[in-house]
This record gives sequence, C-alpha cells and structure tokens, in this order.
Amino acid sequence: MGGLDNLVANTAYLKGGDEKEMRKRRRSLSLPKPEQCVSIRAAVGKEFEMLCERQPIGKKFFRKFLLESNPQYVAAAEFLDELIDWDLAEGAGKDKLRTNIINKFCKADSKSFLSYLTGEVADKCKAVSDKDFEDVMMGKVKDATREYLKEKPFTEYQTSPNFDKFLQWKEYEKQKITDKYFHEFRTLGKGGFGEVCAVQVKNSGQMYACKKLCKKRLKQKNGEGMALLEKQILEKVNSLFLVNLSYAYDSKTHLCLVMTLMNGGDLRYHIYNIGEKGLEIDRINYYIAQVTTGILHLHAMDIAYRDMKPENVLLDSFGQCRLSDLGLAVELPGEKTINQKVRAGTSGYMAPEILKKEPYRMSVDWWALGCSIYEMVSARLPFKDYKEKVQKEEVARRTLEDECKYEHKNFDEGTKTIIDLFLKKKIDERLGCRTKNEDPRKHEWFKSINFPRLEAGLIDPPWVPKPNVVYAKDTGDIKDFSEIKGIVFDDKDDKFFKEFNTGAVPIAWQQEMIDSGLFDEARSRNIFTPVHTFFLWISN
Ligand code: ADP
Ligand code: MG
Ligand code: MG
Repeated sequence: MGGLDNLVANTAYLKGGDEKEMRKRRRSLSLPKPEQCVSIRAAVGKEFEMLCERQPIGKKFFRKFLLESNPQYVAAAEFLDELIDWDLAEGAGKDKLRTNIINKFCKADSKSFLSYLTGEVADKCKAVSDKDFEDVMMGKVKDATREYLKEKPFTEYQTSPNFDKFLQWKEYEKQKITDKYFHEFRTLGKGGFGEVCAVQVKNSGQMYACKKLCKKRLKQKNGEGMALLEKQILEKVNSLFLVNLSYAYDSKTHLCLVMTLMNGGDLRYHIYNIGEKGLEIDRINYYIAQVTTGILHLHAMDIAYRDMKPENVLLDSFGQCRLSDLGLAVELPGEKTINQKVRAGTSGYMAPEILKKEPYRMSVDWWALGCSIYEMVSARLPFKDYKEKVQKEEVARRTLEDECKYEHKNFDEGTKTIIDLFLKKKIDERLGCRTKNEDPRKHEWFKSINFPRLEAGLIDPPWVPKPNVVYAKDTGDIKDFSEIKGIVFDDKDDKFFKEFNTGAVPIAWQQEMIDSGLFDEARSRNIFTPVHTFFLWISN
C-alpha cells in the first residue's frame, strides 16, 4: 500500500467497520443457558481476588450482589467505592470526600458504620482524623474490609443468582476464536515472523492490533518456544502501561496475538522523525512515568523486560504510552538470576552487568531506562551517537569505562541527575536497585506526577496524535515475506498450535465487553433468562 492508501485505510478503521452488521450481530448475542454452565462452575476456582477483584465482569457482579444484600455488605461495597473516588480526587473535592467518608463510615451512630470491624482496627477507624486518614483507611481498614468480604459474603455470593450470571459470561468467554471473529484492516508494522495489522472484533466493534506469526517461518527458525513464552507472559500481565493480550488463536497459516491497538507510533519515530529531534521535557517526564509504572508491574511479577528502548514504547490514539514486544521478557521467580551464555538486549542499551556476562535480574531495565531518557532528550545514546558507525565492542567498552556526558542544550539539572542515577555502573548504586523493590517513582524528578491518577488513566497526555496521520515509515513494502518451502507440520507441531490457541484472555475480554457496551446491552435485554423458560413458565 502506498502513502495515500494507507492514510485512507487508517481513517476508515478509526470510524469502525460496518455499523449495520454490527448492530445485527449484537442483537443476536445470547449467553449460554444456565444448565450449560455446570462445568465452568468448578473451573473458575474459588480465589477471591481473581473472581471478585481482578476480572471486571466478576467484580461488577460481586459488587451488585453486595449492594442487593444486607446493610453491612452495602456499607462495605460503598466504602470501597468511595475510597477509590477519594484516592483519585484532587484539591478541595478530595477534602470533601474525606469528610464524607469519615462521617458516613467511621461514626458508630451512622447507619453505614463499618460495624464488621473489630478490635484495634475498629478503634482506629472510629478515632480516625484528617491527618492519619490515608494511613488508617487505605491501610488497616481497607485490608480488614477485604478480609471480611472474603469470608461469609464471598461464600454466599457463590450460591447467588449474580454468580450464576457471571458463570454465563465465563462460559461465553470460552467461545472458539477464529479469523472470522475479526475484520482485518491496514498493516501497522512488521515483526520477525510476520506482520502486525489492525483488526476489529465484529460483534463489539473493538479495535486491536493483531501480531501474526507465520507457522512455517516459526518452525523453520525454531521460534516456537519463544513465541509461546511471549504469549504466556503477555497473558499474565494486565496494566495500562503494557500492551495487553486479549486473544490468542491460530489460523491455518498463522499464530495470532491480538493486543491493545497502539496507532500513535513508537517513541523512536517521534524522537527522530517528527519536528526537531528529541522530545520536550514535559512529554519525556509523562512517558517515563508511565513506562516506569509498566516496568514496575513486570518486576512485581518477577518478570525482567530486557528490551527497554524508545522503539518499544508505543503511543495510542490519545497519546498514552505502553511497553510492547515482550519477546525478550523472562520470568525469574524467587531470587533466580540470568546466567548468560549469550548477551540479550539491544546494543547501546545494555547494562554493564550484561556486557560483562555477570548474572543479573531486574537491574538491566533501569539502566536501559536511563539510556532511553537520555535519548529522548538528545536524540542519541549515552555511549553511541545517532547513526554512528561503531562496532558493538566499542559501545561496550565506552559503556563500561566512560562517564556519561551531557552536551546537548536540552538537558536540565534534574534530568541529568536522574539519568546519572539510572546509569550507575554498579548495580547496588543504581536507582531502582539500591534497596529491595526500590520505587524510582519516588524520585524528585517525578514530583509533578500524581501516580494514582496516572494509573487510573485520568491525566491528559501532553501531546495527542493527529487522527489522520500514520506515525510510521511508509509501510508499502511490508507485505513482502518470502515464500517458505519444504516445511511440513507433524503431531508435535499441532500440539504446540493447540497449546497456543487459548482464545479470549479473561480480564481483557471482560473489559472489552464492558467498554463496548455489550455487557450493559445484554443486561438490559436480560439475555440471561432463555426465552423458552419464559414460555414454559406462562404455559404452566
Ligand atoms: P517482533 O517481536 O517480531 O519484533 P513486534 O512486537 O516488535 O514484533 O511488532 C512488530 C512491529 O509491529 C512493531 O515495530 C510496531 O511497528 C508494530 N506493532 C507491534 N505491536 C503493535 C501494537 N500493539 N499496536 C500497533 N502496532 C504494533
Ligand atoms: Mg520488535
Ligand atoms: Mg519481539
């Protein structure tokens, strides 16, 4: 496709596919009948956090159950809701919400008093003041509320009609996914095993990016293990600052990863190809705040990202960014380290411990983040100039021996300070590594960022992509993948394809149902009760 075609295709997909067809599909949506949901009841497990907090539809039904139950349950549910509102509020509104919470939930004579609290927590709650509000309410009182809900309310919920409805959605979630589930739009980029293109779910209208991995090419290059690993890591993570996986399926020719669509281009493109080279400091600050939160999310799950660089940070159409390409990410449970035979990462972003082939864990991501901030300011790397023809060995030598210099006019003192901290050659002096789980977001440099609001997606991005521009080099030659001959699949391959094809990823899929309005539409049409039951009931 040439430049103009591309532009047209890009706008076309922003409008969304065929509206009429979509409405027809939506009207015909019906959930599996309750009697079809017997096996799913055992399969969903009994874990409170997964059933009632992390899965968006599960969370909605549990909350609904609480609000329809006794005053104690209602108080607990409302308290948690209002605590979130308070956490995200700012200025005078925040003070008002705090006063409301204290009066409503902490006074023994209020009808919404949290009467399930006992002992020391109850005393602390009753005595809470403006000063220790955050400490007490976000700490012990919130914890005790969750502990309370996990017991009797959770047990009762699992035998309630609301839970039955949740199971119907869980059964529906298991549907088989094929190419027919999506409309396909323009190509967005090219990966090692195939193209990435924009797709739209036919029944919800939701847009995604689909990363296609050619089965033959995978087999030819022994890439199966890597592909499965990337998929397994992607499906575990769920963060506003990571490209999330919504579906994994296979077609006759490809394995497909359907992920968050990011059509604002990657940060490398923005640094080098738009306007003056480099980015303004407030944009850098905002992007790095998001990226740092994304990295911390991975680290909290014992995952090292290992490919931090601007090229892997993608912008969506609102100007929010996420980390992508988790192909190098590895899980390092417990104290496990990487003991390298080969160096992994990109030249110019590799930490000294990688270059020296020493064992490492998460530290390499903070080093690479320092390199990335440096690059966003000055459009070059600390130890490698833009387009400099230089051997990897020389970049390695400079990385190990040289001091980082700040010659570009755009560096300010604060930014130099934080880069210096990320570029400490000794791991235990590096920001993010100086104590166990050190949180770099506490650094001065981030002081203007309200992280709870950032994590709720409530802070306006400093820059918004124009809707009719494709922020990528012309993708004209992208479709040219050479034909692969002489590869045939055996039983082992088929087993691997099956293992890959797990369909919808629960949290992301449920969010899609909610965001697209399908969840509410289904409820208002009450598709939970099959029509035939209704007629049976009349004829009796
Ligand atoms: P590979 O691991 O094979 O390098 P990537 O995951 O890096 O594949 O994807 C290849 C290219 O596709 C990227 O450089 C980017 O241009 C584009 N791309 C990848 N993921 C997305 C996404 N979620 N949204 C939009 N474009 C994407
Ligand atoms: Mg890539
Ligand atoms: Mg990759």
